[in-house]
Amino acid sequence: MDITTAKYIISSPTVGGCPKPDRAEYAFIGRSNVGKSSLINMLTNQSKLAKTSNTPGKTQLINHFLINNSFYIVDLPGYGFAKVSQKTRATWEKMIEDYLKERTNLVTVFVLIDSRHEPQKIDLEFLRKLGEWGVPFNVIFTKADKSSQRDAAKNARYFVEAMKKEWEFIPRSFMTSAVKFLGRKEIIAYIDELNQEFVLPEEAPKG
Ligand code: GDP
Repeated sequence: MDITTAKYIISSPTVGGCPKPDRAEYAFIGRSNVGKSSLINMLTNQSKLAKTSNTPGKTQLINHFLINNSFYIVDLPGYGFAKVSQKTRATWEKMIEDYLKERTNLVTVFVLIDSRHEPQKIDLEFLRKLGEWGVPFNVIFTKADKSSQRDAAKNARYFVEAMKKEWEFIPRSFMTSAVKFLGRKEIIAYIDELNQEFVLPEEAPKG
């Protein structure tokens, strides 16, 4: 599989406003400025699908994109902004939590980690929450071109080691660079595998 078409569908302020959960869905999340928009644009081969921006906290909604007319990619707001009020932050956190817990067709959430840094508490805490909520995830290390291959690999290894302290099963991770298109093939092949296994959850009985 390659990603040949990507179409913006809708931006929703709540999980209830998202499109009908009638196909496989893959969400992307990470700290603000981690490179999420760049990664989504790289995967979909489009320069402006997700808005690349240096203004932290600009994307505050649940953004759905239909890929190959077949599955959804979702751009979630970043976590860990310093410059927003407690109240705004609480609203976003609730929106993200509700989405992750309630979205029945969510196959996995890709958590983006900047490969230039050693493991950060805020990222590990976020993974802990995903564990509590029973949400499957994978890790994508970003911006591999910004440091030496050795340093990026070392930070990725540290991060996996930190995960091993808390998790028995370490999910698959990917090293990427949006600038060099590194990791694109691997992530798309992985999504393809998951798509093959995907079974639509039965609709909850009404009434
Ligand atoms: P977001 O806030 O997580 O969506 O992050 P963006 O995609 O807007 O990226 C934040 C900044 O990092 C921008 O200046 C990007 O150009 C830059 N960036 C993102 N990914 C990469 C990458 O793989 N390599 C390099 N060198 N820069 C990147």
